[in-house]
Amino acid sequence: MTAPLAASAADAVSSASVIEKRPLQHYVAPDKPSLVGLTRNGLAAALGSIGVPERQQRMRVQQVWHWLYVRGAKDFDAMTTLSKDLRAALAQKFTLERPDIAAEQISVDGTRKWLLRLPGEIDGRPHEVECVYIPETDRGTLCISSQVGCTLNCTFCHTGTQCLVRNLTAGEIVGQVVLACDRLNDWTPSLPSPASGGGKGGGGDGEKRLVSNIVMMGMGEPLYNFEAVRDGLSVVADGDGLSLSKRRITLSTSGVVPNIARAGEEIGSMLAISLHAVTDELRDQLVPLNRKYPLRELLDACRHYPGVSNARRITFEYVMLKGINDSLADARALVRLIKGIPAKINLIPFNPWPGTQYECSDWEQIEKFSEIVFSAGYASPVRTPRGRDILAACGQLKSATEKLSARERLALRAMAMTD
Ligand code: SAH
Ligand code: SF4
Repeated sequence: MTAPLAASAADAVSSASVIEKRPLQHYVAPDKPSLVGLTRNGLAAALGSIGVPERQQRMRVQQVWHWLYVRGAKDFDAMTTLSKDLRAALAQKFTLERPDIAAEQISVDGTRKWLLRLPGEIDGRPHEVECVYIPETDRGTLCISSQVGCTLNCTFCHTGTQCLVRNLTAGEIVGQVVLACDRLNDWTPSLPSPASGGGKGGGGDGEKRLVSNIVMMGMGEPLYNFEAVRDGLSVVADGDGLSLSKRRITLSTSGVVPNIARAGEEIGSMLAISLHAVTDELRDQLVPLNRKYPLRELLDACRHYPGVSNARRITFEYVMLKGINDSLADARALVRLIKGIPAKINLIPFNPWPGTQYECSDWEQIEKFSEIVFSAGYASPVRTPRGRDILAACGQLKSATEKLSARERLALRAMAMTD
């Protein structure tokens, strides 16, 4: 823990924006489907649709997979292990497009943030989501989105105030990882060859890679977009491609209880729960989904999360709201509440946004709270604010670009999405 929490206006450093925000009317929705993010079965079907016979499909899928997810190919011509005819046939019907990057910002601390445009439903107007990369000494974490907006209206969350909501496709979920690797130059340039198999980084568990960890903590509730999240993450974890171990992928949910066990069985990633309150009364207000799935049911689902153990702990996220949930009695109740569940507790400094009714707890209070949690035997890292100069945090990239006054921008604090 403990980079200073209070970010003053003077702390905010102007950052070099390497891709300036482009006007909306410059957006052109793709006219052909992209192969990026299809599952192996989906890719086989795509190959079948251009006449690749079934008996060749497995081998071709393996080849295309390698080009897409180890070498980061951006056009079919790069796929030199495929015949020219096959490359041409693919290019006629498909693309290798990633989500459109509308803006990119790089913080002085290396945090990067992308504003992405995705096809919309009406008038060709695109949707916008964001994606943030946070480099640390021992890892690089990419925070990705699962939906445009969110239906759940947690009262402290800016994403919940956006009215447009649509699910991201598996391709758009994987596309965020692929475009981050593009921008960070995080591809394996040459060997191993497609024939030798093995994934990105030689099949290692992510050590030397820039994007080594993924957190589904951007916009949206991943367990309300279950199939696309499951399929997208299966592509990201595939050992012959991006090859990110499931232990390095964390899915954060506000508590969609019926899908928690299913997530353990069908996705198998690490789990984070947005807890934020220790009584139903308060959680009903902060996370209205609690009225449907109250604390007792949520904690039961955590106790029975497939694969949970001391080596695979559940992370409980707790946003620090001044005078609301940050008393020392709350801290003691928190450790009592999760007793018996192999857990980590992640205290998140509240990230204010214009119009919010909440304030972030004082730093001293966060420290006292964290000491109680720590004495109860839990590591309780406080998320370090990162990328402050570029407002890199949940729901903040969009707000930053929605014509806030300079004062409001500076008033916003950013935080990292990792522990
Ligand atoms: N919908 C999922 C994942 C996205 S939100 C969920 O709620 O878990 C990722 C995390 O950011 C959640 O823990 C969420 O509660 C937290 N969060 C949302 N708005 C925040 C804010 N303004 N300040 C700090 N944390 C916030
Ligand atoms: Fe949705 Fe998560 Fe924000 Fe709640 S905290 S509104 S579930 S994105």
